[in-house]
Amino acid sequence: MQETRRRIRRPIALASAAALAIAALATASTTLPGPAPASAGPVAAGSGEAPLGPCRIATTMGVQMSEGLPTAPGYARSTGRIKALNLMVDFPDAPGQGTAMSRFREFFPQTADWFRVSSYGRLHYTPETPIPDWLRMPRPFSSYGLERGSPYEPGYRGLVQDIVKAADARVDFSAYDLINVLVTPNAGPSALDTVLSVTFSGNDDAPYADGVPLANTSFVYSRQDDGSGSYGDTGYRVLPHENGHVFGLPDLYTVDGGGTVGHWDIMSEDWGANNDLLGWHKWKLGWLDNDQVGCASRPGDFEYTLTPLATTGGPKLAFVPLSGTSGYAAEVRTREGNDEAVCKTGVLVYRVETDVDTGHGPVTVADSDRSSGGCTRRPNVHAELSDAPFGPGETFTDRTSGIRISVLDEDPETGGYRIRITRS
Ligand SMILES: [Zn+2]
Repeated sequence: MQETRRRIRRPIALASAAALAIAALATASTTLPGPAPASAGPVAAGSGEAPLGPCRIATTMGVQMSEGLPTAPGYARSTGRIKALNLMVDFPDAPGQGTAMSRFREFFPQTADWFRVSSYGRLHYTPETPIPDWLRMPRPFSSYGLERGSPYEPGYRGLVQDIVKAADARVDFSAYDLINVLVTPNAGPSALDTVLSVTFSGNDDAPYADGVPLANTSFVYSRQDDGSGSYGDTGYRVLPHENGHVFGLPDLYTVDGGGTVGHWDIMSEDWGANNDLLGWHKWKLGWLDNDQVGCASRPGDFEYTLTPLATTGGPKLAFVPLSGTSGYAAEVRTREGNDEAVCKTGVLVYRVETDVDTGHGPVTVADSDRSSGGCTRRPNVHAELSDAPFGPGETFTDRTSGIRISVLDEDPETGGYRIRITRS
């Protein structure tokens, strides 16, 4: 299964990257690093740490979707109440099977719950269905010429214009923060052959409706049933992944699949068992406060106590900037919240690079045990990195950069881990 899945997924990495390239090019010329909304907050508890500024490694010009802070303008807000318009779309040559609302319920309430849990209640995701029936397109699906990696021109532009035409009398498009187009799964190829699902985000060149550009729109087609029997529980997760792009997050899987991040972020693997987002992404999305982040930017020793990422409150993320565009992050991952597949608890260490684009490996997880084969037996989870976290007594070392991150001990009461960062 896993091999098959990776093979299926490979063209998608290319497809998404190609599609996003078109979407984001439209914003690149107007993207300037803006002022950080909350860049002057207090620093985390610790010894002698520096202000957070050096840890807010910036979005890099020319990168379509960057890990940098802050996220470029044009994407949907990721905190507060978010109204999501859901349109269930079918075609004369692919009429919807079952009711449109049953298609909607393949994704809700699970998607809204997933965001509530991951964001510690900061993202209140409100899905709405002003048109509870299938929205029939005037032309056959095949006539739009949508293939994997299709850019917003011309097939998607035609489809979006037809959607607007069909829905406009009943929908005020300006009332929503993002749009989910839930296409009938029998339109186009099976996801086992070709995954068409795609998001056009941060795109100010999108078609307009009710005076607003449909700039943050996710299209979901046939989903990948991995055959493991968990499809009913986890099949919805393509939508939180696609919506992650709407909030400005890049793809973490590459042409080689989920090998750089494994199952530690839904932007890496949205298939298989449920998983959460990296702490870096939670900070980027405004779900962690600045006082939950420690910044080790100067030479010396820094000690932090990190609480599990899945729990609300407390210090969550330690960051070691290496340059204006890269650094190491450390966080505690446990099997709770959205992280149902964690098989080794501990301190996850990963490198973030804001000048590496979506789909090209902007994040790389450090494996504490490189050729173990991993600890998970879950299907479709990149097994090798599943035991990546560092445990008490273990140390991550980057000699070139003069960085050591040591796990000192675990507090069995709180599940927190004490770590020491040494930079020479
Ligand atoms: Zn994606």
